[in-house]
Amino acid sequence: MSFEDKSLQCADCGATFTFSGEEQEFFATKGYTNEPKRCPNCRQARKTTRNGSQGGYGGSSSGGYRSSTSRQMFPATCAQCGKATEVPFEPRGDRPVYCSQCYNKTRVTGRR
Ligand SMILES: [Zn+2]
Ligand SMILES: [Zn+2]
Repeated sequence: MSFEDKSLQCADCGATFTFSGEEQEFFATKGYTNEPKRCPNCRQARKTTRNGSQGGYGGSSSGGYRSSTSRQMFPATCAQCGKATEVPFEPRGDRPVYCSQCYNKTRVTGRR
């Protein structure tokens, strides 16, 4: 059985389009018995809109990342001048904590 080009009318836009013999053969091998109801343009448009609205994954998951927006500051006492200050890391006993002023100073003087 050979396939001949057919003229079909698009159900969406009403345009006449060709259901070519090749396509019919393709349809037959896929086991499709239905003729295409839409012209290639509308088929393409449908595909893209479907994909566009399909993004059901993720989207608005309330993320666990809140890193840089509000950096936690820890209260500390400056080892240099004794002033109360805040540092962006948790102060531990093994390291002296400086206020920003003294930190800058020690950086400058510490460089040799
Ligand atoms: Zn169409
Ligand atoms: Zn200080």
